[in-house]
Amino acid sequence: MKESSDVVIIGAGIIGCAIAHRLAQQGLTVTIIDRGYPGGEASSAAAGMLAPQAEATHGLKGPFAELCLASHRLYPEFVAEIVEQTGIEIAYRKPGTLYVATDYVEAEALAGLLERQRAAGLPAEELTADEVRKFEPALAETVQVGVYLPEDHHVDNRRLIEALAVAAAQQGVRFITHTPVIDLMVEGDRAIGVRTPGGMIAGGIVVNAAGSWAGLVAPQLQKHIPVRPIRGQMLCLKQSTPSIRHLVYSGHCYLVPWPDGRTLVGATMENVGYDKRVTAQGIGHLLQAALALVPSLAGATITEMWAGLRPGTPDDRPILGRTPAVEMIVATGHFRNGILLAPITAKLISELITSGQPSLPLEPFAPTRFAE
Ligand SMILES: Cc1cc2nc3c(=O)[nH]c(=O)nc-3n(C[C@H](O)[C@H](O)[C@H](O)COP(=O)(O)OP(=O)(O)OC[C@H]3O[C@@H](n4cnc5c(N)ncnc54)[C@H](O)[C@@H]3O)c2cc1C
Repeated sequence: MKESSDVVIIGAGIIGCAIAHRLAQQGLTVTIIDRGYPGGEASSAAAGMLAPQAEATHGLKGPFAELCLASHRLYPEFVAEIVEQTGIEIAYRKPGTLYVATDYVEAEALAGLLERQRAAGLPAEELTADEVRKFEPALAETVQVGVYLPEDHHVDNRRLIEALAVAAAQQGVRFITHTPVIDLMVEGDRAIGVRTPGGMIAGGIVVNAAGSWAGLVAPQLQKHIPVRPIRGQMLCLKQSTPSIRHLVYSGHCYLVPWPDGRTLVGATMENVGYDKRVTAQGIGHLLQAALALVPSLAGATITEMWAGLRPGTPDDRPILGRTPAVEMIVATGHFRNGILLAPITAKLISELITSGQPSLPLEPFAPTRFAE
């Protein structure tokens, strides 16, 4: 048995690292274990959009929308705190999203999106084709209408996870990397630590933040943590100056411009199991969609292609709270919005652990909902 901590966290993605940092700030001893390295999976594959409004395909009311908007509000402070602590710049920007439609079906969907923003009292500007092209002159002639969402933001998620891991380590969090958790240590009906090939690590509380793999940590958990990986392929195009300035969404892809001339194109949504390959079909689809939207990207250099596994759940909502079969805390299933949801997840899970009273209700996200 290796030494014991107040809390043992499985998985050093953005969710595990953000929780570790918050708990250590409050004086708890924390060990975080990853079978790879911090941010090596979905958290570095992401596009970094903090876009609760563009992502609101199911509406902007209800517990999930509240969770996303609450996390969005926390972001400036979350980033400032980590930058101040570590000195690492994270490139938190506020470009806004321009959501566009190129045909009648997309225009109908966009009208619904606009309606939901207005019903929720959130800022959203309806744009004609001419106005869209004033916003983004490089957009194709096929764009018929658009909606501008000024409050959607962006962060360099790779820098963020790097800084978060440094900040957590500075707070005293112990990182054990390149070490898989192969089982839980259970006493009665409580997890009291984890088993690794190198021995056991005990913890007063175990937090499972293993992303798409959270349900595989121990077989008795799978019923309550039915996470399934949803592959997202992405590519990066480079120009001397970027063709666009805002985040651009269409029904077929999204584009994320960087001031240095890079434009990320994302992302596929594929239910293909634990397969992180980049495929000809996936990249072909993204390229076709991107060039149809911004023809001047045709001359850009392809500098990078990658894929990551989003932790999806049957109802597309995160899983946050205590598991009943074996008592442990779960924080996973953030699907398309884990970068956005990191600050609020860290806040609520640390409140659950330290006071038992999270400041937003966790019931809508409870692991028990899947067994009922
Ligand atoms: C292509 C793509 C684009 C995306 N774009 C965005 C976006 O723009 N905005 C946004 O908000 N979200 C986005 N997401 C979603 C976001 O990336 C995820 O929701 C988020 O990263 C999940 O974080 P996590 O910490 O739960 O999981 P992960 O980052 O996957 O971390 C889980 C960690 O657990 C470790 N682990 C697993 N099993 C074990 C084990 N048995 N023992 C030890 N360690 C283990 C893994 O090694 C990994 O490091 C995107 C995702 C993808 C794939």
